[in-house]
Amino acid sequence: MEISLRNQVAIVTGASSGIGTGIAKSLASSGATVIVNHSSERSLNDAKTIVREIIDAGGKGITYQCDVSKEDQVVKMFQDVVAEFGTVDILINNAGIQKDAKFTEMTLDQWNAVIGVNLTGQFLCAREAIKEFLRRGIDPSRSVACGKIIHVSSVHEVIPWAGHANYAASKGAIRMLMQTLAQEYGADKIRVNSICPGAIQTPINTNAWNTQEAMNSLLALIPYNRIGQPQDIGNLAVFLASDASDYITGASIFIDGGMTTFESFSTGG
Ligand code: NAD
Repeated sequence: MEISLRNQVAIVTGASSGIGTGIAKSLASSGATVIVNHSSERSLNDAKTIVREIIDAGGKGITYQCDVSKEDQVVKMFQDVVAEFGTVDILINNAGIQKDAKFTEMTLDQWNAVIGVNLTGQFLCAREAIKEFLRRGIDPSRSVACGKIIHVSSVHEVIPWAGHANYAASKGAIRMLMQTLAQEYGADKIRVNSICPGAIQTPINTNAWNTQEAMNSLLALIPYNRIGQPQDIGNLAVFLASDASDYITGASIFIDGGMTTFESFSTGG
C-alpha cells in the first residue's frame, strides 16, 4: 500500500514541539506541504528549526504563528494559508495544554485556559477548515475526500484523571465534537477522526518519564512496556489523512501500547 499526500496542504497546530512536530514531519515526508503552527514569538525558533529539517529532508513547509484559542488569529491563519497555497486539505487539531490542580483548588483561569486551547481552539480551527473544504469541493487530483480533520484527543477521553478535571473534560468533549462533525459533514465527503494517544514522550509530561522511578510507574500502566514516541502518532496521522483510510470517519483511534486495556486488572483485578 503506497500512501501519498502529494499536492495536499496540511495545517498542524502546536507543531513546534512534541506530537505536533512528529505529525508535521511525517505528513511532509509523505508529500504534503505543512504549515507548522506555533503559538507565540517564543516558539518561533523551534518552529523554524522544524521547517528547516522538513526542507532538508526534501519536504515543503512554512511556520505560522497563531494562538488557536483566539478567533481572529485562527480566521486569519486560514485566510493567509489559502491565499498562499490555494486551499487546505488536512487539519491536524493538535495544540493542547495542561494546567493541573486538585479540583477544589482549580481556578477559573486554569479551567478556561485549558478549555480555550484544547476545545475552543479545536472548534475554531475545525470550523474554518470545513468552510474551506466546502468552498473548494472535491478535487480528485488531491484526494477522494473533500477534506480531512484529525483531532488529537487522548486516552483521557475515556479514562477519568484525578487532578486534571479541566484536561479530561476537554478531551471527553472532543469526542462529541469529532463525532458530530463526522455525522454533519459525512455526506460532503469530509472525514473527521480522533487520535487518542496514551503516554507519548514529549515536554507536556516530562515528570512522567524523566526519572527511572517515574518511568517504572508509567510502564506499569502500559502492557506493551514502552513509552510512545511522536513518530508513532505521525505514522497514524499519515494513514488517517490519506485515501488509504477513506472509509474511516467518526472514529476515536487509541494508540497507547494497550493502556486502555487497564493493565492494573492483568492479575485478575
Ligand atoms: P507539547 O507541550 O510538546 O505540545 C503542545 C503544543 O501545543 C506546543 O507546541 C505548544 O506551543 C502548542 N500550543 C499550546 N497552546 C497553544 C495555542 N494557544 N495555540 C497554538 N499552539 C499552542 O505536548 P504534546 O504531548 O506534543 O501534546 C500535543 C497534543 O497531544 C495535546 O493536545 C495533548 O493533549 C495531546 N496528548 C499528549 C499526550 C502525551 O503523552 N504527550 C497524550 C495524550 C494526548
